[in-house]
Amino acid sequence: MKLRKLMMAVVLMIIGSMTAVAQEMPQIPVDPAVRIGKLDNGLTYYIRHNAWPEQRAEFYIAQKVGSIQENDDQRGLAHFLEHMAFNGSKHFKGNELLRWCESIGVKFGTDLNAYTSIDQTVYNISNVPTTREGIIDSCLMILWDWADGLLLEQEEIEKERGVIHEEWRLRTSAQMRMLERDLPKLYPDSKYGHRMPIGLMEIIDNFERPFLQSYYEKWYRPDNQGIIVVGDVDVDQVEQKIKTMFSQIAAPAADAAQVVMEPVPDNAEPIVVIDKDKEQKINMVEVMVKHDAVPDSMKSSMVYLLANYLKNTALGMLNSRLGEIAQEPDCPYLQASVGDGMYLLSRSKDALEIAVVPKDGKMNEALQRVFVEVRRAAELGFTQTEYDRSKANTISALDKQYSNKDKRFNAQFVNQYVQHFLANEPIPSLDDYYQLMKQVVPALPLENVNQLMKEFSVEKDSNMVVLSFNQEKDGAVYPTEEGLLGAIKAARAEKLQAFVDNVKNEPLMAKLPKKGSIVKEEKNDLFGYSELTLSNGVKVVLKQTDLKKDQVLLSGEGWGGASLYGLGDRANIALFDDVVEASGLGNFSHTELIKALAGKVAGATLSMSTQRTNVNGSSTPKDVETMMQLVYLYMTANIKKDQQSVDQLMQTMEVQLKNRLLQPEAVFADSLNATATSHNPRFKSMEVEDLKNVDYDRILRMAKERTANAAAFTFTIIGNYDDATIRPLIEQYIASLPSQDLIPEKGCDVASDYQGKVVNDFKHKAETPKSIAVLHWYTKKLPYTLRNSIRAHVAGQVLQMVYLKEIREEASAAYTVMAQATLNRSDFADEANLLAYCPMKPEKADTAVLIMRRAVQDIAAGKIDADMVTKVKEYMLKDHADQLKQNGYWQGRINAWRKWGLDFHTDYEKTVQAITPACICGFVREVLKAGNELEVVMLPE
Ligand SMILES: [Zn+2]
Repeated sequence: MKLRKLMMAVVLMIIGSMTAVAQEMPQIPVDPAVRIGKLDNGLTYYIRHNAWPEQRAEFYIAQKVGSIQENDDQRGLAHFLEHMAFNGSKHFKGNELLRWCESIGVKFGTDLNAYTSIDQTVYNISNVPTTREGIIDSCLMILWDWADGLLLEQEEIEKERGVIHEEWRLRTSAQMRMLERDLPKLYPDSKYGHRMPIGLMEIIDNFERPFLQSYYEKWYRPDNQGIIVVGDVDVDQVEQKIKTMFSQIAAPAADAAQVVMEPVPDNAEPIVVIDKDKEQKINMVEVMVKHDAVPDSMKSSMVYLLANYLKNTALGMLNSRLGEIAQEPDCPYLQASVGDGMYLLSRSKDALEIAVVPKDGKMNEALQRVFVEVRRAAELGFTQTEYDRSKANTISALDKQYSNKDKRFNAQFVNQYVQHFLANEPIPSLDDYYQLMKQVVPALPLENVNQLMKEFSVEKDSNMVVLSFNQEKDGAVYPTEEGLLGAIKAARAEKLQAFVDNVKNEPLMAKLPKKGSIVKEEKNDLFGYSELTLSNGVKVVLKQTDLKKDQVLLSGEGWGGASLYGLGDRANIALFDDVVEASGLGNFSHTELIKALAGKVAGATLSMSTQRTNVNGSSTPKDVETMMQLVYLYMTANIKKDQQSVDQLMQTMEVQLKNRLLQPEAVFADSLNATATSHNPRFKSMEVEDLKNVDYDRILRMAKERTANAAAFTFTIIGNYDDATIRPLIEQYIASLPSQDLIPEKGCDVASDYQGKVVNDFKHKAETPKSIAVLHWYTKKLPYTLRNSIRAHVAGQVLQMVYLKEIREEASAAYTVMAQATLNRSDFADEANLLAYCPMKPEKADTAVLIMRRAVQDIAAGKIDADMVTKVKEYMLKDHADQLKQNGYWQGRINAWRKWGLDFHTDYEKTVQAITPACICGFVREVLKAGNELEVVMLPE
């Protein structure tokens, strides 16, 4: 393959003027491990065996249709239909489908779900335990029902209207309101202007059944449907079952309506849309330059893979520049990014998208500045050092992905196959992809990337769309069309100078500390870890696993946290983690550090909670030493002051905090927080006035104080590290940490829970009327044990099931309902919590709150559905088996064992199995008995 010819094809593909050139190029081979077939009636299927984790599978059905297929009198019905798929079908009447899934430990909303977008509708049953063949049969039966067996009963339609109306309310925000009313202008003369999937509420509330029925019959046809099964299944068997079952569905009529790509007309003059809304938090502007999307038929060409790689490389380097420039004190924007992909909603049209969040009152300048950067990259290209870093990052990400190839989860495969079915995205095997990229990435010279970047031209007005969302308020000055177009014009007139890439060519640590040693090593057989005692008194827990072959996790937990500081440090405490993260490390500023870590997959953070200080790190096995160095630098107060970076953080915080309370959800969250903490100023939400109390030097001193004595810390390292090299690294970077032979300073009890019965019902005026309720109960009398912890989890999930059934399905009073119970331990108390949360229909708020409270009281009184308890136990056992495959699980269990001598692992299954409905009633009764009850309800004014 000649490079020049290849590059020509790549460039043509990117700008959407694909020619025959790409077709001559080699094709991407489809992964042979996936069985793909097509039935006579047109239905496509994908089946793949994957045994990580064992006995689990995913069942998907994807449809190549969505809201764009609706007629004017059907707006919202594609999405409505998706809801009806869970409300009665040939083999699962009423809500039986949900109930059956619950019985095998598959939860609605978590494992059982669906989405409808403008041109696709996808349903899934995930994390299915394939322990019995009958389960596989039933899941295929559900897919069959979705494909062709929905009942669409009148009574169920009536109940679902309210649920969807509440989904609309929940999703309605300032941005959604503006986007919806601006779409006709953004898509002149196109159906895309009028097809938001949520639809029109007057249609949702009033449509007659035949309108829904006709959409279903017209579009849900085997030739538009793809079935995907991935997991621990027998591929031949599943294929046979699919053939037998789905061949029964009739082939579409010869004159059946075809799915056609809806065109998006070009525009010769720029389209400028400026809008405002009272609840919009930040002002922003986006410039999109439309171009044709790569046709599906061209995506199997090798050129497509390369084009995507080069495009992502170029835009990635441009975004790094934009991030670096944002730290300059006089930069007029807070944040900016450039991407290239689908133009808003339409798959038939792509766009280069430039998004800018300006500093206050600087929208035109900000837009001009970002435009200049896009031009600079397009005309003058990137530097070799920028490109070298980008290549190094790509290679290390590839290596990381490849090293874990035997432990990929089903979901990773399914998503690829869904995209292959819907949009012909390539699905090479990881082996082929890896081999190809490992050859191509180092071989492509910088000129190729620069040549490609040139195609992202912003010199012409044609096909340009400018969109600006603003906060509406008295006295505000809004951007104008002349102003925004003037900024673009000014940017085009600017004389460009090449970008200078400042890099620091020195190692992360110039000089290594004097090594300490391991003085003792003890084995723990229960959890399979080693506990090392180091010469400086620090303890390190080591557990080697290959659960994720590309992961090593380090966590250091030290005594003493924010509770050691008084109210005067409230702002410093609140921003501690963010300021530390925005700072530099060692000899490197924040930006220099990012550059210095190119090609490494390693990171670390320092953070502070009320009672603890934590250092957390993660890396690939290869980059453990880099992670250890980062941890060492944090633990030795080598945080480098980076005023510019922290100034940018503060400016961003200011914009966010200033307008936070414009959103009704934030108003509710603040009221809830204040009421739940008895209005303790320590726990008050941050406000913009608090920012002036942030003292950078003070935060750096606090970081130094918290890490001064390494002996106050215990480190846990878990994952796929190399056992032969980990000990010398521990001696080098952890045993060398300064420590004192002191009893670590512990925190103080600053909890300020509400006491007794507390009610805070209030009204709030919003653009779209919203209401939210939270009920909460707690007790400090239940000891922290495995059994109580399991009782809590079961109770919360049973309650969630009751809410789903009574509030959503029966009363149609809400779209989302949530209940949760937990048992926590702090240094000072054990606490059991029961929480109920529901954003609900304002007219039905009384009903919803009544059910929320009554359901809890019922359980306390012994009224509980034993069947629900059984289902929750089923789910917990399945989930536990999955947890065993996560490093995080082992970290948590080892922690509990070491800190409190509690074994939450060995008897887990036995304890779950022994739970009876009466145990759950007893738990809720004990929580309620304490008499602590909180109610916070927001209603529209
Ligand atoms: Zn929905």
